[in-house]
Amino acid sequence: MFVHSLLVSPFLGQYLILQPGHAAGVQIPENRYEELRTAVAEDQPAPPWLDQATEAAWNTRLLASTIGRAVLVRERSRFGFGRASWEINLGCDADCGFCYLGEKRFEGLGWADKTRMLDMLAEAGVLWFQITGGEALIDPQFAAAYEYAYGLGLMIQVSTNGSQLHKKPIQELFTRLRPYRLTVSLYGATSGTYEAVTRNRGMYERVTCGLDKCRDAGLPVRINIIVAAENAHETDAMVRLVDERWGFPYQVFSNMSPTIHGEAAPLAQQAEKYLTPRRVFTGCNAGHTFFHVNPHGIASICKIGRDPSVNLMVEGVDALARLGGIAESLQLRTGGCSGCTKADTCRTCRPMAKLHQEAGDDRSLYCQHGGYGS
Ligand code: SF4
Ligand code: SF4
Repeated sequence: MFVHSLLVSPFLGQYLILQPGHAAGVQIPENRYEELRTAVAEDQPAPPWLDQATEAAWNTRLLASTIGRAVLVRERSRFGFGRASWEINLGCDADCGFCYLGEKRFEGLGWADKTRMLDMLAEAGVLWFQITGGEALIDPQFAAAYEYAYGLGLMIQVSTNGSQLHKKPIQELFTRLRPYRLTVSLYGATSGTYEAVTRNRGMYERVTCGLDKCRDAGLPVRINIIVAAENAHETDAMVRLVDERWGFPYQVFSNMSPTIHGEAAPLAQQAEKYLTPRRVFTGCNAGHTFFHVNPHGIASICKIGRDPSVNLMVEGVDALARLGGIAESLQLRTGGCSGCTKADTCRTCRPMAKLHQEAGDDRSLYCQHGGYGS
């Protein structure tokens, strides 16, 4: 496989030079994008300004004599998308009571359909790409799909519970083809608590060993510290663990969502004391510049607003053009809030509100008017 050391890509009306495995890029004008596109097609030497740009951004120079051996140029897309997420498989080796996926089946697309779906994402203009699950790394085709997506010029973020990171093939894959981010959820600071939350024996030892290896390999890890009723007493210890043992950046999450099927179970697992006010919804580009794909190739505006959706495997890439209209119609719906006197100024994301309503949640927890609008 041709492994590019630089990627040149359109992104939402701009043009970027990126180094795979790094989140920061360099914006270039359209004429320089065209210059690089021609130079790669004709395998010419790199223009002198390219080395200056890469040195300024990443302190590196192109080592190849001709640009065609080092640079991948993505073509413009007729769609307006720049980001997507994909649940490769909902199966998981943990069983957290607060999981927003609810019941998780171990199933996904076959290999031919996985590559067809990834080809469609690239054609749709997706540059920033999250692979998630379930536990993404336990899908037997994860490594092949990751490598395939990487070869298409997708910048990949992997979200994982960390249970497989200690394994040699995974470490080799991520050091050879770096993700730009590896987001790892952390569920405790001791073995006992970790096992109580994830209901998986030995999970703490595997995750911490995997994170040690990621630190040693210099992988771009970010930790999501998940605080629930069962592990809230270890919140400070989890922060200290991340800071002192690995030094990775982290965020603390304590607000749970109902499951994607509208079940309330995760809400009962929240640590009340740690709940924070939800951010005011000021609009979002779900369905317009980004979308989500489930393990069966069903695309929706995001992970929360899954219905209506479009079936990429049946309808093909053109179906993605319908997501913009779906997003508009979803945000206009105020079902479940009938009688609210402040509906005109509603600042709650409707797909999220719908899930909470189906779960019978206390309106004050999701209504940005504090639940007093009716
Ligand atoms: S590790 Fe993540 S996907 Fe797996 S059960 Fe827990 S919350 Fe759900
Ligand atoms: S849940 Fe709402 S705010 Fe979040 S991505 Fe979906 S539509 Fe946007």
